Amino acid sequence: MNPAIPEIEIDRSSGFCSGVERAIKIAEDKLLQEEPIYCLGNLVHNEEELERLSSLGMRFIRHDEINGEMKTVFIRAHGEPPETYSILRNNNASVIDATCPVVLRLQHKVKESSRQFRETGSGLVIIYGKPGHPEITGLLGQTEGNAILISKLEETGSIDYNQPLHLYAQTTAGEEEYASLCRRISENSLQLTGRNDLVTVHNTICRQMSQRAPRMRAFAQKHDVIIFVTGSESSNGRYLSGVAREVNPETHVVGSPSDVENWFAGARSIGITGATSTPLWLMDEVAGRIKAIVENNL
Ligand code: SF4
Repeated sequence: MNPAIPEIEIDRSSGFCSGVERAIKIAEDKLLQEEPIYCLGNLVHNEEELERLSSLGMRFIRHDEINGEMKTVFIRAHGEPPETYSILRNNNASVIDATCPVVLRLQHKVKESSRQFRETGSGLVIIYGKPGHPEITGLLGQTEGNAILISKLEETGSIDYNQPLHLYAQTTAGEEEYASLCRRISENSLQLTGRNDLVTVHNTICRQMSQRAPRMRAFAQKHDVIIFVTGSESSNGRYLSGVAREVNPETHVVGSPSDVENWFAGARSIGITGATSTPLWLMDEVAGRIKAIVENNL
């Protein structure tokens, strides 16, 4: 092999998680039969993919834009609270529900805990996650107000510990942060009540998410330069590109092929990777652009 030509590898284990991939497949199949289809919120945090879906006939709307003219409404992988389904029913919209099965299972568990606590008259559901995230809205909506959201360790001081507590995490939460939170709540409960049986921890972080960071480290270490492809809105993209940069300072974040600059002087290998919202086709296009740049460098 000519040593002057760097090897270019696309990280095939990066890109869409199975929940997002499934939602996009459902949308594409449905769009072959009818259009427009109205999607509640952005289906993925990736501008290029949203543009592609728009060109197929998908329209992205806010919840306050739902109206009776919208024949078919699409629910994305993050899921929705029960109120959304009743609003759609009241507007006679037919619903395509692409809630990720992992999120759906979590919604059912949260609902069941909340139901038990209502029946026994004591207990609180605690959800760890990001305020305002659509998955959190969907989860809180299962509890009829019988839950609190915690997003920081410092907020654990305001919990009423004199009751059973069921802890759940958003599927995309950080593992270490959730573990510290669970530890802190268990310690507080023991200290304040003298009991060690009041806290139940549910491990609900999606395995596909928890495997991403170690894989990203290994991939970023393997290459001289990393090109991380992500939409500007993706919090997962910000997190994983940070993980890559920790082990490889030559990590560059791009949104599309046109963002790629000539960062490859002296590089022997270039890795292309992305967030859970990055489509593989976009990484392929970025690879094409990199190839053109490195060939031009020869
Ligand atoms: S990260 Fe996991 S839970 Fe969330 S949509 Fe993807 S597969 Fe589903």
